[in-house]
Amino acid sequence: MIKNAHIHFNDLGTPFANDFSDIYFSNGDGLAESHCVFYEKNNIDARLQNHDQPHFVIAETGFGTGLNFLNTWQRFTDYLARQQVQNQLDKDVKRLHFISFEKYPLQIDDLSQALKVWPSLSSFSDQLIKRYPINLAGCHRLEFEKGRVILDLYFGDALESINAMSFSQTGIVDAWYLDGFAPSKNPDMWQQSLFESMANISRANATLSTFTAAGFVRRGLIEAGFNTTKTNGFGQKRDMLIGQFEHVKNTQSAPAYFNQDSSTLKNVAVIGGGIASSCILYSLAKRGIASQLFCQDEQPAMGASHNVQGAIYPHLQAKNSPHSELFAHSFLYAKRLYSELLTNGFSFDHDWCGVLQHAVKQPLADKHQNLAQKQLWPTQLMRNVTAEQGDEIAGVTTGYSGVFFEQGGWVNPPQLVNAMLNAANSLTPFKSTFNCDIKQLKKTEDGWFLLTNTEQLGPFSDVIICAGEHSDAFEQTKALPIVGVRGQVSHVQASEQSNKLKTVLCHKGYFTPAYLEHHCMGATFEKNTKSRQVTAHDNQLNQEQLLNFYKQSEFATTLGNITSAKAAVRCTFIDHLPMAGQWCEQSDYTQAFANLRLGKRYQYEPLKKPQQGLHIFTGFGARALCSAPLSAEHLISCLNNEPRPLSERVSQAIHPARFIVRDLIRNKI
Ligand code: SAM
Repeated sequence: MIKNAHIHFNDLGTPFANDFSDIYFSNGDGLAESHCVFYEKNNIDARLQNHDQPHFVIAETGFGTGLNFLNTWQRFTDYLARQQVQNQLDKDVKRLHFISFEKYPLQIDDLSQALKVWPSLSSFSDQLIKRYPINLAGCHRLEFEKGRVILDLYFGDALESINAMSFSQTGIVDAWYLDGFAPSKNPDMWQQSLFESMANISRANATLSTFTAAGFVRRGLIEAGFNTTKTNGFGQKRDMLIGQFEHVKNTQSAPAYFNQDSSTLKNVAVIGGGIASSCILYSLAKRGIASQLFCQDEQPAMGASHNVQGAIYPHLQAKNSPHSELFAHSFLYAKRLYSELLTNGFSFDHDWCGVLQHAVKQPLADKHQNLAQKQLWPTQLMRNVTAEQGDEIAGVTTGYSGVFFEQGGWVNPPQLVNAMLNAANSLTPFKSTFNCDIKQLKKTEDGWFLLTNTEQLGPFSDVIICAGEHSDAFEQTKALPIVGVRGQVSHVQASEQSNKLKTVLCHKGYFTPAYLEHHCMGATFEKNTKSRQVTAHDNQLNQEQLLNFYKQSEFATTLGNITSAKAAVRCTFIDHLPMAGQWCEQSDYTQAFANLRLGKRYQYEPLKKPQQGLHIFTGFGARALCSAPLSAEHLISCLNNEPRPLSERVSQAIHPARFIVRDLIRNKI
């Protein structure tokens, strides 16, 4: 669990950390000092105009009040405005990516108070305060200015956080702000292993600056590969340090078989029409990357994203697993994204009314008990409730205890998909082609082509398959181990009593608050069938299931008739995790990584990649509303050689090669 900082404000209004006996920024001139020591000494302004990538990455040790971030963001905004006047937007850096590590986040009230002393930054600090994350360890990706400014705020120890990151061989960071408390007061932030880890994720010629001039810091940085020298400090301060990274370490976070390649991403074909593809298109559009959508149905969201009301909440385990990490962070990211869409005028029916998971069976009650004991998750994410508390929240009587996800709720998925597509289009217009049944994918020297019965479409630099249960329909992807699970949701007429329901209920399935005078009730769960046909039998199953759990509850016993239903096949994998990454061919893997059968992880042949540019993004099952947006960001960040929002262990957990690697290690293939 992340613990907040204990602070007070000194007589000059400067925040002071009680546990470190140090101030967050200088009394009086903190903003000017931040600008001089970090922004100017890293020469950021000039480097924005001369950069080899469209994004510039700054990493900071010690987020504190966010003053350095806010100053940098303001300066970046000024820079963008100047570029616009000079019409130079095509040439220079277009996006600022700021990574910051914080072990003891300020409480939000302290943050607000600390930032009040900088009225010139208020338009930026207000936005930061609005998005400031809850105390969940790991990377919170916060986006500002329609994605032109990204803050990856890591809650947790800086060294541990860097070591858990997913990154490519070429590194990710262009400039470092070293802003832990004074080395004498906080040696953890100035230890050699931290400098070495910084070097691991630095790009060639990355710079650094820090307010301290301590000799052991300078020597340690030099040892880690940063050519570090003293220079004049700010104001009265005599010295500080600046440095430049001299040699790239060629390390990467993943073993070769879980590598996430970068790509050229010039013109991307996206196949599918549901939540998954809309999230990919949105992530591409934010970056100004051209794309086209191809969907076999006549309109978006006709497959598994077609429910009238879809519940959104994180699927959390009673352990800090990759699974829980993925869902916890995905949920928070999805909520921020959806709220942002609404703020920007893209509408979809929804209600952030919370989701209450009832302990309808003993194993669920045990699981909830376990969750309560472990206390792994912040209460804003999930909290245990007694039957009384639960019924109070729900507004109906059930008698079940459970867990409550107060930030959860429901959305209308087809409307959401359309909102996402419209939002993506407003950022970077793209063409959508419906009723388009892609039969084949063909790679030539010019790129990828999509073949229908009558047409050849392309070329494209990349193809991303987001086609759910149909993702294995191509020659290349026919080995995809999809587990299709058919689900039918019934729409049942609300009654006076059921209208009192105020939150989404989850039992074995789910039951939503009334919307358009109906509740969504379901869903059935049936493997080995691909039928989208609605059946009376499944409606009956949904009704029986609800009454089985809530036979004493008026809201369930007074419902009207089922007037309609929807059925779809959800695409899942056996480990209940999605798949996001480059397509991995089994025969290439068995050749390159044959030694995995002998337990040798580091002896391998070069991996041939005849299908380079082909990517897979599917397997979200019934949880795409929660997990697709952040996974899409991760995939596009990997392909575009940017900082990645998911940790290495989560990246591996959703990697397309995971089943092949598992079978190789077990000597099964
Ligand atoms: N850059 C900040 C600003 O603009 O307000 C000031 C940073 S303050 C001087 C140092 C920060 O480092 C504190 O917020 C503190 O909680 C954080 N910190 C201390 N030890 C840490 C650790 N091991 N890992 C990550 N953050 C740490």
